[in-house]
Amino acid sequence: MSYNVPPFLAELLHARSPSGYETEAQAVFDRHVKPVADTYANDALGNRIATLNPKGDPVLMLAGHMDELGLIITFINKDGFLYFDTIGGHDLSVISGRRVIIQTTNGVVKGVTGKRAIHLMDDDDRKKVPKKHEIWIDIGAKSKDDALERISIGDVATYDHELELFNGSIGAARAFDNKAGAYIVGETLIRLAREKKRPAARVVSVATSQEEIGVRGATTSAYLVDPHIAIAVDVGHATDHPDCDNRKYGETKLGGGPIICRGANINPKIYDRLLTAAKKLKIPYQLEADPRPTGTDARAIQVGRSGIATGLISVPLRYMHTPSEVVDLEDIERCVQLLVEFAKGLEKGDYAHW
Ligand SMILES: [Zn+2]
Repeated sequence: MSYNVPPFLAELLHARSPSGYETEAQAVFDRHVKPVADTYANDALGNRIATLNPKGDPVLMLAGHMDELGLIITFINKDGFLYFDTIGGHDLSVISGRRVIIQTTNGVVKGVTGKRAIHLMDDDDRKKVPKKHEIWIDIGAKSKDDALERISIGDVATYDHELELFNGSIGAARAFDNKAGAYIVGETLIRLAREKKRPAARVVSVATSQEEIGVRGATTSAYLVDPHIAIAVDVGHATDHPDCDNRKYGETKLGGGPIICRGANINPKIYDRLLTAAKKLKIPYQLEADPRPTGTDARAIQVGRSGIATGLISVPLRYMHTPSEVVDLEDIERCVQLLVEFAKGLEKGDYAHW
């Protein structure tokens, strides 16, 4: 039995969007969300801001970042090999041996990440994780000039790993982090727009930019949107694989439903309401506790302006920030349902002050 992947999600996963280079993901969001939004805006940081019900109250902001990890070309040596710096938090042990796609002004260039073969290492080197400058990208160029015909300093690369389903709704892709979240906030707005009765709230779904390098798009878009209530949507660690100590990392699993976060970064009323919505829908959900600002857009939004009541839901995911992140697509669908229900439950004047 094959699982039906929503085209909007599939297109976002295919789009290549390292932080600061989000053009392809922006185009997908534009194509699917703009037609149903009442107003739609771009800004100088590359965010996409879709509004439903502009006169509604309270103002609810839903934020899912659309940027992903990447490699940025910093130097080309005389033989035409490309050196790079990393965009976002890479695990250096998994960079080499990959097919990569480099985005250039003249279209894509394919290459591989190379490093010295195991046979050519001494015993000490074999135990080490390579440093960035010990890995390079090989595009088959014959010289620096040959490489420069196709590549420019500042071009960016992503892994050539596309979405693949391997057991029903369970699949792997290069950047569920966080195309999943961008899809969820966009799809929530699309479904709310289709409902007969509009919600009381103004709903603003933002595909944020530059989360992976310091929640930058969320910082500026939260200022613009000026919401009463915000929910960030990201991926969270599923701890159900063989090397995750539950005593350290809690207990969350693939297919267990949205992870609802609790802690100082989270407004307690928003948390309660997310829980109530999940129970009403009778969908599975799981809890995560975080004692500090989370590593998500929620961190920036909560302390934006004069303080914003913020919540966080996450899609459980294995192998975060590797080329093969694994999720259960059913969890993504449940997050959409949860946010639709949450948005419908808001009443005028409801600002989650406590
Ligand atoms: Zn991330």
